[in-house]
Amino acid sequence: MIPPSFQYHAPGSVDDAVALLSQYGDEAKLLAGGHSLLPMMKLRFAEPEHLVDINNIESLKGIREENGEIVIGAMTTESALISSALLQEKCPLLPEAAGLIGDPQVRNRGTIGGDIAHGDPANDHPALMMALDAIFTLVGPNGSRQVAANDFYLGTFYTALEADEILTEIRFSPQSPNTGASYHKLKRKTGDFATAAAAAVIEMSGDTCQRARITLTNLGPTALRVKDAEAVLVGQVITDDLIDQAAQKAMDICDPVQDLRGDVEYKTHMAGEMTRRAIKTAIERAKG
Ligand SMILES: Cc1cc2nc3c(=O)[nH]c(=O)nc-3n(C[C@H](O)[C@H](O)[C@H](O)COP(=O)(O)OP(=O)(O)OC[C@H]3O[C@@H](n4cnc5c(N)ncnc54)[C@H](O)[C@@H]3O)c2cc1C
Repeated sequence: MIPPSFQYHAPGSVDDAVALLSQYGDEAKLLAGGHSLLPMMKLRFAEPEHLVDINNIESLKGIREENGEIVIGAMTTESALISSALLQEKCPLLPEAAGLIGDPQVRNRGTIGGDIAHGDPANDHPALMMALDAIFTLVGPNGSRQVAANDFYLGTFYTALEADEILTEIRFSPQSPNTGASYHKLKRKTGDFATAAAAAVIEMSGDTCQRARITLTNLGPTALRVKDAEAVLVGQVITDDLIDQAAQKAMDICDPVQDLRGDVEYKTHMAGEMTRRAIKTAIERAKG
C-alpha cells in the first residue's frame, strides 16, 4: 500500500523542526522511526501534508547520566536501549523490556520518543515510563516544559503534547538500592503487541515493601498506574496473599477491548497474572 503524497522536510536542529511544526500546524507530522506513523499513513488513518523527519537531529540521540539522572534522547532506538551498558547497570528494566518490543527491524528503527509520543495504549514504553516516574521534556515555540509520564497520557492516541511541540528527552532516577524491577508481557508471538503486560518497581527493606510502582500495558484506553495495588504492598511484610490482593486491584481497573488477542475476561485475567509475576520477580531482584 502506498501512502498519500506529502512534502518532506529534514531539519538539522530542534529549533528548525519546531519552526516547521509552527508553520504547518495540524498539516505536519514528525517522522521518527516511522514504524507506527507509516502504517497509519498507508491505511489513511493519518494523511499529513508535511512530514518533518527528525532523524538528522543528533542532539536527540543518546543515553547519558547527568546530575544523578538518566537522560535518554527521544530519537534513541530500542536497539540502543538494549545495548546500553549504562542502562544495564542503572536501569535494567528498560533494556529487558525493549527486547520484548516488536522484532529486530522494529527495534532497529523504532525510537523511545516515537513509542511514547504515539499515545498507543498497546505500546510498551508508556507503562514503563510511568513505573519509572519519568519526566518528559517537550520543546515548542515558547520554549521547553516538563511533564511527568503519569500526567502525559490523556486518552487513546491523545497526549499532553501540543501539535507544535517535540518530545526531546526523557529523564528518570537510576534504580535505587534494594530495588527490583520487572516487566512481564504476554504476547501471542514474536513481533506482536502485548495481550496484557505489567511493570513492577519495588523497593524492599528485608521482607517489607518500602515503595511500589505497578503499571499496565494494553488493558485500558491508556497505560494504567495501579495505585490501589501499590497501596496494598507498601509498608507490609510481603506474602503471597498480599500479592494476590495487588493482582486483584490491577484486574479491578482493567478496561481492555476485545480483539484477536482475546476477549475482555481473558485479558483481565491475564492482567492479574502478569501483575502477580511482575511483583514476584521485582521482589526477588530487590532482595538480590
Ligand atoms: C510489526 C510491529 C510490531 C510492533 N510491536 C511493538 C511492541 O511490541 N511494543 C511497542 O511498544 N511497540 C511496537 N511497535 C511500534 C513501534 O515500537 C514503533 O516504532 C513506535 O510505536 C513508534 O516509534 P517510531 O520511532 O517508529 O515513531 P513514528 O512512527 O515515526 O512516530 C509515531 C508518532 O509519534 C510522533 N513522534 C515521533 N517522535 C516524536 C517526538 N520526538 N516528539 C513528538 N512526537 C513524536 C509522530 O509524529 C507520530 O505521530 C510495533 C510496530 C510494528 C510495525
